[in-house]
Amino acid sequence: MRIILLGPPGAGKGTQSERIVQRFGIPQLSTGDMLRAAVAAGTPVGLEAKAVMESGGLVSDRIVVGIVADRIEEPDARRGFILDGFPRTVAQAEALGEMLASKGLKLSAVIELKVDEAALIGRIENRAAETLARGQAVRKDDTPEVFKQRLEAYRTQTAPLSAYYAQKGMLQTVDGMQPIDKVTADLMAVLEPHAEAVAS
Ligand code: AMP
Repeated sequence: MRIILLGPPGAGKGTQSERIVQRFGIPQLSTGDMLRAAVAAGTPVGLEAKAVMESGGLVSDRIVVGIVADRIEEPDARRGFILDGFPRTVAQAEALGEMLASKGLKLSAVIELKVDEAALIGRIENRAAETLARGQAVRKDDTPEVFKQRLEAYRTQTAPLSAYYAQKGMLQTVDGMQPIDKVTADLMAVLEPHAEAVAS
């Protein structure tokens, strides 16, 4: 089962991905998490990505496609995966298509979490407050100023992916403004028919 979860920053992709991981036992491949780990470890990729991430822009397709290509070769991704935050440009979507085709694999589902953009700033402020309350460090790009840049990057570079996958007849949408559990239930309803593929 190979799933792409689309949606703007703050739409709930991370939260919902965790639940999909629990239900289907496939790994969540979050390019944001992988890049943050590379930045923390000070690897060459991290050094190149750091400033772009802190400004709310997108890291180059070359870097991101490279880390995904390596990651999906890992044994735990053989039975499938959920991509969270990738692809983020049409070029990345095309690279992913080629990567999968070269292995004889196909995507099972592309699901977009539809949200009201005006509500997202409030969500991101909540996320920062909750993180602080847990005594954890807030992501540097979860400030309102940088968040607006991330939203802008989404609008111009990532939103066209909805049309890209819709044209291929692959796009399904879920209302991401509903309570978290209802969003999960709707996602599961889309994914359950593909569950058999997990066993293969
Ligand atoms: P996220 O955790 O998905 O919100 O990603 C955090 C940041 O990492 C983004 O604002 C980008 O700077 C970078 N990033 C994550 N995934 C990608 C991607 N697929 N393409 C380019 N940049 C990415």
